Amino acid sequence: MTEPLDIALEIDPPDPILLTELLFMQSPGGTEMIAIIIILILLACSALISGSEVAYFSLSPVQIKEVSESKVESDVKVDALLQHPERLLATILILNNLINIAIVVLSSVVVEGMVDFNVLGVFWTYFIQIGVVTFIILMAGEVLPKVYASTHNLSLARLMSTPLTGFAIVLKPLSRSLIQMGAMVKKRVKKDSEITVGHLEHAMEITKDENTRTDETRILEGIVKFGNIDVKQVMTPRVDTFALELNTDFEELLSLVVDKGFSRIPVFRESLDDVAGVLYLKDLIPFIKMRKLNWHKLVRPAYFVPESKKIDDLLNEFQESRRHLAIVVDEYGGTSGIITLEDVIEEIVGEITDEFDDDDLNYTKVDAQTYILEGKTPLVDMYRILEIEGDRFEESKGESDTLAGFIIEQAGKIPLKNERIDFEEFTFIIEAADRRKVRQVKVVMNEQVDEDE
Ligand code: ATP
Repeated sequence: MTEPLDIALEIDPPDPILLTELLFMQSPGGTEMIAIIIILILLACSALISGSEVAYFSLSPVQIKEVSESKVESDVKVDALLQHPERLLATILILNNLINIAIVVLSSVVVEGMVDFNVLGVFWTYFIQIGVVTFIILMAGEVLPKVYASTHNLSLARLMSTPLTGFAIVLKPLSRSLIQMGAMVKKRVKKDSEITVGHLEHAMEITKDENTRTDETRILEGIVKFGNIDVKQVMTPRVDTFALELNTDFEELLSLVVDKGFSRIPVFRESLDDVAGVLYLKDLIPFIKMRKLNWHKLVRPAYFVPESKKIDDLLNEFQESRRHLAIVVDEYGGTSGIITLEDVIEEIVGEITDEFDDDDLNYTKVDAQTYILEGKTPLVDMYRILEIEGDRFEESKGESDTLAGFIIEQAGKIPLKNERIDFEEFTFIIEAADRRKVRQVKVVMNEQVDEDE
């Protein structure tokens, strides 16, 4: 007759009925019974502790307010525990892990006492010890109590307030070192987890689909880049600023103002580096019919900003001071240009053309690859016109903010008419220049050569 032991060794995997019979070949002794009772108690504790994690950290602001205003003892304790959320979490985690480890150790005592290694073989013995025990801990000690706690959070938090308060005191040394270690790690990884403008741009790039409108994309891109743009990049430069000398005759002033059509005009004393204030066109309207006027009294104080100011900060200042125009000054206090609210807003919404704007001067599109731009075109506007990412220009440029400035930097001199300057797949051909200035540039976007080909 074949021994039951031999039959079991021949079966792989074991027959479940036979396995059950074999499992209980040895009935639990006194030690195993005590261990089983302790495991059940520990499982209940594990359930309550891990349920508390969800219970405490899912309390709504209303519930938190309720316990903080209550005088009931359990509520006072809940409130006190919530005052130190990191310590509470550390206490819960330490307790839960200690209990779960105790369950694992005790269950291996039970399994070893009740199961015959020779019958089941090493694999199935470890399967019971690790797989089954982990499953029981996960279901009874983690998943089910957490599901329950999410719907009964306040009552469970109240129930656990006394034991958790006690354990928070007992485990304080341990939880404190855990918090300190956590803080150290957090400090180290923080740099990597910071969201940069590049990350946001990348996120927009990968979430873009055929349903995304181009104007939506442009506005979002504008918002993302907004905080990174400084005044110098978008201002109207000094050479293009229309300003009035303080001693200009009123009649002459009127004709100049009408001719230029700007609503706000800087007024200077000796030179544009000495700005006396800003003249508002609307302040002139009541006197428009007069021939003579001491118009200096109409000049309002000017608002000065440095070239390096970020335009998001400037927008806040414009809003707070209810101004639309600022005089941009360089590091030596000289005037570099002016910037208006429209220049700032345009960085988000794109080009704004009002009734009086001369909009046909900026650039000419010759074909899909060729554009003619003014030298003074800000680089940020060029990226928009050419529909390119400006990253490579931004990386290669020095101080320059305009196309002319970039070309001069690349060439190392002021290039002459018809000179060609290559930058990556772009060729810049100087269309018009003099000894001091690059006025007009033809930009050719050559086909990118695929390196694999
Ligand atoms: P508004 O539209 O409020 O009547 P505006 O048309 O005179 O004012 P903005 O709309 O504020 O001027 O700006 C339009 C563009 O004109 C901006 O690029 C700005 O830098 C430029 N600009 C405004 N005032 C002057 C000026 N006095 N000289 C040169 N450029 C100016």
